[in-house]
Amino acid sequence: MEVLQQSDPDVAKHVGSELNRQREKLELIASENIVSEAVLAAQGSVLTNKYAEGYPGKRYYGGCEFVDEVETLAIERAKKLFGAEYANVQPHSGAQANMAVFFALLQPGDTVMGMNLNDGGHLTHGSPVNMSGKYFKIVPYGVDKETETIDYDALEAQAKECKPKLIVAGASAYARTLDFPRLAEIAHGVGAYLMVDIAHIAGLVAAGEHPSPIPYADVVTTTTHKTLRGPRGGMILCKDAEFGKQFNKAVFPGIQGGPLMHVIAAKAVALGEALKPEFKEYAKQVIKNAAVLAKTLQEEGFRIVSGGTDNHLMLVDLTNKGITGKVAQTVLDEVNITANRNTIPFEPLSPFVTSGLRLGTPALTTRGFKEADLQEVGKIIALVLSDVENEEKKAEARKRVAALCKKYPLYAGM
Ligand code: PLP
Repeated sequence: MEVLQQSDPDVAKHVGSELNRQREKLELIASENIVSEAVLAAQGSVLTNKYAEGYPGKRYYGGCEFVDEVETLAIERAKKLFGAEYANVQPHSGAQANMAVFFALLQPGDTVMGMNLNDGGHLTHGSPVNMSGKYFKIVPYGVDKETETIDYDALEAQAKECKPKLIVAGASAYARTLDFPRLAEIAHGVGAYLMVDIAHIAGLVAAGEHPSPIPYADVVTTTTHKTLRGPRGGMILCKDAEFGKQFNKAVFPGIQGGPLMHVIAAKAVALGEALKPEFKEYAKQVIKNAAVLAKTLQEEGFRIVSGGTDNHLMLVDLTNKGITGKVAQTVLDEVNITANRNTIPFEPLSPFVTSGLRLGTPALTTRGFKEADLQEVGKIIALVLSDVENEEKKAEARKRVAALCKKYPLYAGM
């Protein structure tokens, strides 16, 4: 930071402000986390200078002997952590990982089943505004109106009817455990490939706190920056090394050029951290914390979609509180709590407004928050969202947020 401060004070100022924001606010965005200083160091390293098109041992550039070692470490650690025989650590993001799988397995116009965006799916699973929705025939599936969870029998009936070439499972806002053996049975029963996108739950899967799709899915994609707590990026994993090979070509030269070797180094560091016993404890705590937050909000009169959570996130339906997701997000921002508005199943409002709020515990758990702290967070949220115009309550909330931030300092050595 000192070097940056001297050479470019303008950028340094904004980076410093962002550090303060992270320190002084409670991060409840379910897709975010806080990486270690070792991950930051690897990502900010001289590896950013290196071009390395190709794969370890088969590069199109000279001078790749050290980045080869780094990429091999990342691949081997990913394979070990997830029990996979194949790993590609080059996708620049989760979206790129998904695009590479589509590019490898499908032809334009093929039929794909993916989860509705409103019900928790991701843009890259077939949204009409995304490449996946523009180039492929998407048959979306959703959750059951009563249970607000996936109805696997209904999904199977849909699959039998439309005979997709690929079924995409996995979500960005789904709080329940996914049944991978059942999904594989459905996909393989209709001759489809099963791709599972574990972007959100990767850290929980790695720690054994959510069942793993690796034995069942043909291919698994993920991001590395959510519950897995690494740098921003993507990965592709397969149980079958032979089947996996095709994804190497799909990533490079299919959809990407040179890999981001500094990010791959940071992925290797994060994967190494996730292999340690402490990470298992972390993932367990993420889930315990989410359960307490959901329960506290329910006790305060908030409706949690599907009645609770099995993982790191929950969707709060604000309809009975008479406020929108947009208002809730703004009011929470005013009291230094960061979260995002989110559509709920059968959403009546636009995605810019929404009836819901998505909350997740990965980042607070990294800071050290435990169950009692999450109970306090839930009470603060309830205090302000039950009376959004009340400035006194907001002032009180800000004080209580500040106390929590002080209790768990962030990046203390910086
Ligand atoms: N897949 C899922 C399930 C996600 O939730 C996300 C991001 O939120 C992605 C893919 C895309 O990841 P990225 O933002 O790295 O492209």
